Amino acid sequence: MATTTKKRTVTEKRMYGVWTPWAEVLCFKCHGPKDKRTGEDVSAYFKANLRGSHDGPGFCTRCGEKIWVDETVAHLTRLRKVLGGDMNQTGGMCSALSIANAADTHYAVVTTESGDDVFIGYYTKEAWDHTGDEAIVCYTIPFTSLEVECAAIQAVLTGAAEVPGAKKVMENGVWL
Ligand SMILES: [Zn+2]
Repeated sequence: MATTTKKRTVTEKRMYGVWTPWAEVLCFKCHGPKDKRTGEDVSAYFKANLRGSHDGPGFCTRCGEKIWVDETVAHLTRLRKVLGGDMNQTGGMCSALSIANAADTHYAVVTTESGDDVFIGYYTKEAWDHTGDEAIVCYTIPFTSLEVECAAIQAVLTGAAEVPGAKKVMENGVWL
């Protein structure tokens, strides 16, 4: 619908957020004016209040404030707002969102690259947290809508045989 399209292109008033090396996505209020490592005053960066070409609308993982942050990270914070879970650093400042199942035995681990599909891995908590072992099963789902992506992630979390809208790409270490 035309109204929806129009709404999406409106540039909202948001400040910049930052994806930290300790796996938080923070607004200025939660981050503070100083860079933790260098002691440098980084207020100007946050207050620039401009949206960069790679930025998308995301949320501070501490207080929920609306921010602009790299779209890959922003996408995961949008999913996190609905599903909960923790942001993870996966090396080289790459981001992942891990969501525990109800029994707290497994995670759905969500990653995404700009312009690419959303990737959902189903891991034992032991494997994701400690051993570095592979996912039990992996799915990809094209960018559709937050609702469709959330439904797929929830299906993965319950160990469902069929994951709506998603394609199984790996099972028990074998890429399909
Ligand atoms: Zn905040």
